[in-house]
Amino acid sequence: MKNSLDIQNLTVQFETKKGLLTAITDVCLTIEPGETVCLVGESGSGKTITSKAVMRLIDYENGKIAQGQILFAGDDLVQLSQKNLRLLRGKRIAMVFQEPMAAFDPLFSIGSQIIEVIVQHKLGNAKQAWERAVHLLARVGIPEPEIRMKQFPNELSGGMLQRAMIAMTLACSPELLIADEPTTALDMTIQAQILHLLQELKAEFNMSILLITHDMGIAAEMADRIVVMYAGNVVEQATVFQLFEKPHHPYTQGLLQSITTMDSDRKTKLYSIPGSIPNLFELPTGCHFHPRCSYASDQCLTQSPPLQTFQGREVACWHTEEIASIDRQPGATVS
Ligand code: SF4
Repeated sequence: MKNSLDIQNLTVQFETKKGLLTAITDVCLTIEPGETVCLVGESGSGKTITSKAVMRLIDYENGKIAQGQILFAGDDLVQLSQKNLRLLRGKRIAMVFQEPMAAFDPLFSIGSQIIEVIVQHKLGNAKQAWERAVHLLARVGIPEPEIRMKQFPNELSGGMLQRAMIAMTLACSPELLIADEPTTALDMTIQAQILHLLQELKAEFNMSILLITHDMGIAAEMADRIVVMYAGNVVEQATVFQLFEKPHHPYTQGLLQSITTMDSDRKTKLYSIPGSIPNLFELPTGCHFHPRCSYASDQCLTQSPPLQTFQGREVACWHTEEIASIDRQPGATVS
């Protein structure tokens, strides 16, 4: 039976030269088996930290999970020993990075690195691992896979290497694939091919996907559900249909307006949310979005809004009801 991922009240902090930095606070999200959840938000919103925390990769970056649980397959990953984490990583939860060179060791051939993953997790002997690696490279659309097996990472193009990395992450048929901006470094055509490939593989391998992206167009295409983050907090969580039909949080409205403006009228000046994402060391009081929000009231300046269920979705805003009653197109002006 496939397992869901259930993140509860996750808070991650880092020791820095300037002091203790809280990168994400009380993040809650669930991914059901077979579901694709997109984490969206501007850079610095906490998307990547959340995904790295699931793999416990922040342990290597002076980070710590200060609070919360990450429940998967009956275990709290926060409490898992390093030995058990090694068994889990790659095998049941795998990660595709933005930059494939980071996943491969430049000194070893592509094939030997995929084989190592298979053998390490005791999923076959060397011969079986070779055959599986060739099969996977072919499956992700790499021509002449036997030849590619012997090549080194620097001999493959960016798109090819991204496909090879996806093949490596599939080596153990993971239940959950975490993909952090997997296509940002690629041109538009290759980007579309890789996203299409991920959709195919999700169905074929019966995986769940946690996709991190700053691109709402990609989220619209890929997600079953979307989780919007801002300054280390989840501010809205809804199905893709709910979110694009009528975003409720003013920040989500701004994100959507950025793409609708681009598509609908090229003569219109590109919309961008006013202001910039705050420095995590100097977060605004109350609702962290208040300096950029045209709805901000006195309450917003001093009290932090909790994530609350509203019309089948979750929104962290003091004025959700009032904003939802305004008849406006998706992504209408924030200020
Ligand atoms: Fe805007 Fe206030 Fe809602 Fe924050 S809580 S998004 S400042 S209206």
